[in-house]
Amino acid sequence: MNIVLFGPPGVGKGTQGEKIAAAHGMRHLAMGDILRAAVRDETAAGRDAKTYMDAGKLVPDAVVVAMIEDKIVADAGTGFLLDGFPRNVAQAEALAAMLHKHDLIIDRTIFMDAPEENLLKRLSGRLICRACGFGFHRQYSPPLKSGCCDRCSGELYQREDDREDVIANRLHVYREQTAPLLDYYQHQEGFFKLDAGGEMNVVYAALQTIVES
Ligand code: AMP
Repeated sequence: MNIVLFGPPGVGKGTQGEKIAAAHGMRHLAMGDILRAAVRDETAAGRDAKTYMDAGKLVPDAVVVAMIEDKIVADAGTGFLLDGFPRNVAQAEALAAMLHKHDLIIDRTIFMDAPEENLLKRLSGRLICRACGFGFHRQYSPPLKSGCCDRCSGELYQREDDREDVIANRLHVYREQTAPLLDYYQHQEGFFKLDAGGEMNVVYAALQTIVES
């Protein structure tokens, strides 16, 4: 099965996407994680992407489209869950062309949404493990030991772009560029809207129902 998850920053695409992909044996392809790995490895694409990411802006389409196509092709046999790609209509059109070229389809396109107040609280309290990328939240899902990942004991840090000024910019970019994806996808077959404003387990149960429908 192949799935697209989209929605505003902080809505829980990463957390829920990772969990549902693992439960269904799909690869979780998180565009932000792929970009952060490229930045860390100082690849040419990573160097191009860094300034945009630090400012909360979208990395140019040509860069992300090329990166994701490689991953999609590599995971075509297993099934994949796209999280954070596409993020604008041009990327959605590039995805459609790429799927057509490789004879693939998307089975579910799921729009996750939550009130802006929840997004702000989730983003500003978020902590990420530097070693394994697992996410925590200072209030909602704190690690057992402060500053230390429960899974691998790696160091927890706050993402540069989870600072308040950058968060405001990311939400602006979302409204301007990503929200129009709703019009693009909502009349297509396999589209679902998921209310992601509630507690993590409740949202996960609703997501399971959609994936298994
Ligand atoms: P995320 O981890 O999904 O919040 O993404 C972090 C940052 O990576 C975003 O603020 C963008 O700068 C960049 N990014 C992630 N996905 C995309 C995409 N599909 N297109 C362009 N930039 C992206």
